[in-house]
Amino acid sequence: MTGPLPAAWDDPGWLFEALFSDDPEQSIMEVLRPLDPTAAPDHPNLIAAATTIADSPRQPATTRLSWARYAHSASERICRPQSEVSLHAARAFAQVLAEQDMLADAIVVHNQIIVTLERHSDVRSVVDARRALADLLYAHGRCCSAEQQLTAAYELWYRHRNEPDVRRRGATITTEHAAVLAGCGRHDDAFTLLRERRHVLDDPSASRRQATAILGGVRIQEAIAEHRPACTRSPGAARTAHPIPPISAYHELLYGDSDTTANSTMIGRLLSAVSWPRRVVRWIP
Ligand SMILES: [Zn+2]
Repeated sequence: MTGPLPAAWDDPGWLFEALFSDDPEQSIMEVLRPLDPTAAPDHPNLIAAATTIADSPRQPATTRLSWARYAHSASERICRPQSEVSLHAARAFAQVLAEQDMLADAIVVHNQIIVTLERHSDVRSVVDARRALADLLYAHGRCCSAEQQLTAAYELWYRHRNEPDVRRRGATITTEHAAVLAGCGRHDDAFTLLRERRHVLDDPSASRRQATAILGGVRIQEAIAEHRPACTRSPGAARTAHPIPPISAYHELLYGDSDTTANSTMIGRLLSAVSWPRRVVRWIP
């Protein structure tokens, strides 16, 4: 956008104009910059603008945090909690807090999101929110609470397992739960869980079976490699004492037969599709 934006942030046109400009973030920041996020007025335009800035990895961490906090607080004051504006602001705030290692605060916000979703939203949203909360709890070393969230997510999914929206979530929750156990050094419990829920992991599609095996293997190995410093359940457990199967072996572990079609191209595509860090590639034989 060229030229200054309207000085009045409550002009109904400015946010629309900013969002469709060449550089929406720059245009929004021109309006937000003179304002103090701790004293900015409660206004839907400002909440939407602040959430856009909170979501942007291009902005400085302190800017994102202060505007994320404003958006969340202001939306709590003037919007219904189940509105998309409030949920977006709360998710953005939790995300920024987590990125800045303020995990305890992120967990509080995320718990509020789950309470709202349970009252007002669909099964998939609640299942996914519990999975995301489990991630935060696990990173914070609250391993048992993380497992409780995944158990609750699984039980909710199981009651609705035939609904098209959530049909394949059971396999994802199961591999995430196995990864939590393995990361805490409980390898036997992890593999027992995978075997007990083999019917959930199974799929008529060979490529989906293959994908489940590869992604499950990556999740487990990533948890084993990274969780130890945060772990409070078994911090002294010998993480390397148990032989960890190579990722290519998870197909046999899960389905009882070897997978002759697994190849590095498919693994690479899967990893890039889920945006996992490239460092996990070193575990692939
Ligand atoms: Zn742990």
